[in-house]
Amino acid sequence: MSSTTCIVLGIPVQEGAGRLGCDMGPSAFRTAGLVTELRNLGYAVEDRGNIAPAPQREVRHPNSAIKALAETVAWTEAIAEAAYQAGGDGMPIFIGGDHSLSAGSMTGLARRAAKEGREFFVLWLDSHPDFHTLETTTSGNLHGVPMAYATGLKGFNGYFPDVRNPLNPQNVCMIGIRSVDPAERAALATVGVTVHDMRAIDENGVAPLLDAFLKRVAAADGILHVSLDVDFLDPGIAPGVGTTVPGGATFREAHLIMEMLHDSSLVRSIDLVELNPFLDERGRTALLMVDLVSSLMGRRVLDRPTQSYRHTPKAH
Ligand code: MG
Ligand code: MG
Repeated sequence: MSSTTCIVLGIPVQEGAGRLGCDMGPSAFRTAGLVTELRNLGYAVEDRGNIAPAPQREVRHPNSAIKALAETVAWTEAIAEAAYQAGGDGMPIFIGGDHSLSAGSMTGLARRAAKEGREFFVLWLDSHPDFHTLETTTSGNLHGVPMAYATGLKGFNGYFPDVRNPLNPQNVCMIGIRSVDPAERAALATVGVTVHDMRAIDENGVAPLLDAFLKRVAAADGILHVSLDVDFLDPGIAPGVGTTVPGGATFREAHLIMEMLHDSSLVRSIDLVELNPFLDERGRTALLMVDLVSSLMGRRVLDRPTQSYRHTPKAH
């Protein structure tokens, strides 16, 4: 048994993605058994249901490509407050919802970490860095900006809620990156984010890359937040996402990361984002994401029934 209380927060935001469907994500995570899995691992679980955006106000930006700015700002306000509260009550697990939700989760959790006098770190598992500003986005989909916003990059002031406790970009480690726009590449290099692309995984394996980062978090006595975008995974095993990019993390690479995170005891919160159940195949992506959370929360490889056991029909 564990004394940690998992706090599940459904965030049915879909306005940040380029297509509809992520609003069904929270239902799919629950249907895939997230809460039951956590309880089976010995955790107390408080499912706070789905949160709603703050009241919308009129907000316009000169970049005419930007979509759903007012909606995203309203979501960010509500999510940041919910994240701050939940971060003080237990271990928040944000079930999205598109990746714009991390604008709220990361800023709310950074504020909580600052209140506790702890340094805040983020492990970003995604094929994209989501490091556009409101000026540089050309798609206009605001699931491409949360990391730029949370790290305090210029240009969000007066549009998004003020960032009281910007995340130090040097406390961010990105793994699995394989789709980066030129403006993002330049900004990432300037501010010093650690970026491990898929080639780095091919050449080194995930273990030494992650181990080096976890040592830094531990040395700083830091708090670690994990933001997991479905498209971090290879589309062959995780088709239920609107932004598939070939050549992603394998089943074992992803599980190894989760197992190492569990062993580190450093993780205090998780985002599960970009699941689009409309694009999924009979829930397999949702089930895989729940499976990964179970690994992160401590399920051991040898605890699991084998595939052959699970799928063998009962003899009559
Ligand atoms: Mg993303
Ligand atoms: Mg992505």
